[in-house]
Amino acid sequence: MRILISNDDGYLAPGINALADALASIAEIIVVAPDSNRSGASNSLSLDRPLTVTRAANGFYFVNGTPTDCVHIALTGMGDAPPDLVVSGINNGQNMGDDTLYSGTVAAATEAYLFGIPAIAFSQVNHGWEHLDAAARVARDVVQRRFDMLPSPYLLNVNIPNLPYEAIGALTPTRLGRRHQAEPVIRSQDPRGREIFWIGAPGACRDAGEGTDFHATSHGMVSITPLQVDLTHKTQLALLAQGLA
Ligand code: MN
Repeated sequence: MRILISNDDGYLAPGINALADALASIAEIIVVAPDSNRSGASNSLSLDRPLTVTRAANGFYFVNGTPTDCVHIALTGMGDAPPDLVVSGINNGQNMGDDTLYSGTVAAATEAYLFGIPAIAFSQVNHGWEHLDAAARVARDVVQRRFDMLPSPYLLNVNIPNLPYEAIGALTPTRLGRRHQAEPVIRSQDPRGREIFWIGAPGACRDAGEGTDFHATSHGMVSITPLQVDLTHKTQLALLAQGLA
C-alpha cells in the first residue's frame, strides 16, 4: 500500500512526524506538507504565485503553499502512480462540526477525495500533543481497518481524544455537530497605533447531542464522520423549485 501524508500544521509539526512514523511500518509513505503552519487555510489553492517543492533531510517534501496545494501537486505533478490512500494530520486540535469548513487538515484529505482517492483526516481533540503516541497508534489502527462497506472514494474525518492508548474508546460513527457563531474579533493596536484585528475563538457547541462528533469524543470515543462535498441544500432546492414554478 502507498500512502500520501499531508497536514496543515506544517512538515515540522509533531503530529505529521508521529503519523509518518506509525504508518511507515505498514505502508510505503510519501510526505508532502506545507513549509509552515497553514491551519485555517480551508480548501484554498495558491493561484497568484509559483510553488516550490523541497526535500528535507528526513525525506519529507515541503511546499511554500497550502495543504490543498500540497496534495494537488503531489497527485498531479510528482510523477509516480497515485497513492492508494491519502491521510492528513495528525492535527493539533479538533476538527469537528463547523470546524471542518475552515480546516486545512480536512481540506488536504478533501483534495484527494476530489481526485478519486480515499482519504482520512486525523485530529487530536485538544491542542498541545498530549498522548500523541496513542493518537498515532489509533490512526494506524484506523488505516488498517477495511472500509469495504463504503464506496470508493470515501472521505473520513477522525477526531481522537487526548488519552492514553488503553483508555481510548471505540471507533464510533458520527455526524458533524454544530457550533454557535464564532467569538467576535479581538481589536488591538499595532506598535504604530494602527487598529488591528485578531480572528477570535470558534463558537461553543450548539448541537453536541448523541450521534455527533462532539458527543463521541467527550465520552472518550474516537469519532469517525463520513463527509461529502455537495453543499446543495436539497430541501430548499425542492422548495425553490416549487415556489418558482
Ligand atoms: Mn492545524
